[in-house]
Amino acid sequence: MVPQRIDDDVVVELQYKLWSDGELIEESEADDPLVYLHGHDNIIPGLERELYGLSIGEEKEIVVSPEDGYGYRDPTNVEEVSLDELPLGFRPEPGMLLEVQDEDGNVYVAQVEDVGENTVTLDFNHPMAGKELRFQVRVTALREPTEEELEHGHVHDSSHHHH
Ligand code: ZN
Repeated sequence: MVPQRIDDDVVVELQYKLWSDGELIEESEADDPLVYLHGHDNIIPGLERELYGLSIGEEKEIVVSPEDGYGYRDPTNVEEVSLDELPLGFRPEPGMLLEVQDEDGNVYVAQVEDVGENTVTLDFNHPMAGKELRFQVRVTALREPTEEELEHGHVHDSSHHHH
């Protein structure tokens, strides 16, 4: 059975455009839609909630507040790091995104906020934290998940690594 509407445990394929502060910041490619398993926290809560009940071909504009999106900026989530801790010869510039690994091997993405003589200020907040997001979505396909996908709580497809 092909699901007729978006509900929990349905694999959803959609095209989207995303605006923040009136600026288009993200857009899915025609041949690379967003594909996810609905009802398993794979997308931000404010978006997932508003997609319930949509059918194939339907379009919707969805505004997501920061608390339902990427949260608010946490000013304590900004750290000053010695340039010695960065790879030799690497010169960071403000606005750059860096992958930083902690002692336990966890990888975090940080944005370079400021570069001093001996230190660099890294912002570990999500780049979209604190922003109101406006999505324009169009549902392009719905399907049942495989047993394995349901068990894992996410979609498996050929273009992504299995995890
Ligand atoms: Zn998996």
